[in-house]
Amino acid sequence: MPFSALNDPALRSWIDLRPGSDFPIQNLPFGVLEHPEGHGPRLCVAIGDYALDLYALAQRGFFDEIDELEKGLPWVFRRGSLNHLLRLGRPAWRAVRQRVSELLRHDNPALRDDAAAVRECLLRQADVAMRRPVKPANYTDFYSSIEHATNVGTMFRDPANALLPNWRHLPIGYHGRTSSIVVSGTPIRRPHGQRKAPDEAAPTFGPARQLDFELEMAFVVGTGTALGSTVPVAEAESHIFGLALFNDWSARDLQSWEYVPLGPFLGKNFGSSLAPWVVTLDALEPFRVAGPAQEPQPLPYLQLAGLHNFDVQLEVALVPAGGPATAETRLSRTNFGLMYWNMAQQLAHHASNGCNLEVGDLYASGTISGPTSDSLGSLLEIAWRGTRPVQLPDGTERKFLLDGDTVIMRGFAEKGGVRIGFGEVRGTVLPAA
Ligand code: MN
Repeated sequence: MPFSALNDPALRSWIDLRPGSDFPIQNLPFGVLEHPEGHGPRLCVAIGDYALDLYALAQRGFFDEIDELEKGLPWVFRRGSLNHLLRLGRPAWRAVRQRVSELLRHDNPALRDDAAAVRECLLRQADVAMRRPVKPANYTDFYSSIEHATNVGTMFRDPANALLPNWRHLPIGYHGRTSSIVVSGTPIRRPHGQRKAPDEAAPTFGPARQLDFELEMAFVVGTGTALGSTVPVAEAESHIFGLALFNDWSARDLQSWEYVPLGPFLGKNFGSSLAPWVVTLDALEPFRVAGPAQEPQPLPYLQLAGLHNFDVQLEVALVPAGGPATAETRLSRTNFGLMYWNMAQQLAHHASNGCNLEVGDLYASGTISGPTSDSLGSLLEIAWRGTRPVQLPDGTERKFLLDGDTVIMRGFAEKGGVRIGFGEVRGTVLPAA
């Protein structure tokens, strides 16, 4: 069976799908759950409102057909991250997803009609806590939305020369930190730091006054490289396992004071939130689109024909401090397909100096902003550095985030009746310690 058959819109599962569900049988994203009865972490796959416990399935022999993996799979399915599964290699992770697709198909009775196995392996997502899906080996944040880079350059430097001279020639990025990357739902503590407003004579140390979110997509590397080797841009996608929603929380006042001349530092590394589900690049195949025209043409090592952007609709919502969880205000809607630099170019550029990629590496897109005022990926841009505050239904306004605010990001690709969703990434701001 060709691998692309897993994306067939005609496929359906014996598990009922709620209308609008992010997780039909064509998706099958991977995550790591905390077993509700205290059995520790389990790798799992999302299907409808459920998480399928891969370890429990393996214990019952449902993966025995994947012969060459017979010994390794139960072990990797009990780890606290996807890293060990990824290390088995692309054929292995693809074989697992293919087998799960077979087991969930409406006309396959093997699991469907085994009531004890269904009871043990199929857990309601509402009943399980999710862990951070990968243990990030390294984290790099790009800056690849031309609209976002233009907006920030306009606000902080010079509207006439908003993009710096290098921007259209290479995917700008910086090396971040992995220790503070947390799973969705983890509260984010407002950081302390040095702040100096333009009208202040000297900096002071205290809680950040300009806390912000950044709407991003992160991709996970599943195939590493050796130190000293490079990645041809045409082969770069074969190193990518999948994508997840990512909120790269930022303290703008810390950032704007500290970033000269070496770039982002403590204004960025106090916390970033990763969604629990990693959607495979394989599941996104039907949603390839062309990116924006690149002018001037990039250097040869970054030139790539074909469709390498992905049509993923994104949104950011805010639940204001003190509001009921249902009191969401949508702040933005945009699309991942707008990114100027695509993931293949980012990865090829990243490896072009011989720096090695590691399994589990996390690469974030940079803030994803669109061309209109309702498609901006950060509060910095939405409220335009505090000059046009967002009015909320509860009568309050926001220039930046307040303690108690909850930020929720969602995303999905949809075509031909199939919705490949990413779930959500959410976090609530806690007051400074
Ligand atoms: Mn960022």
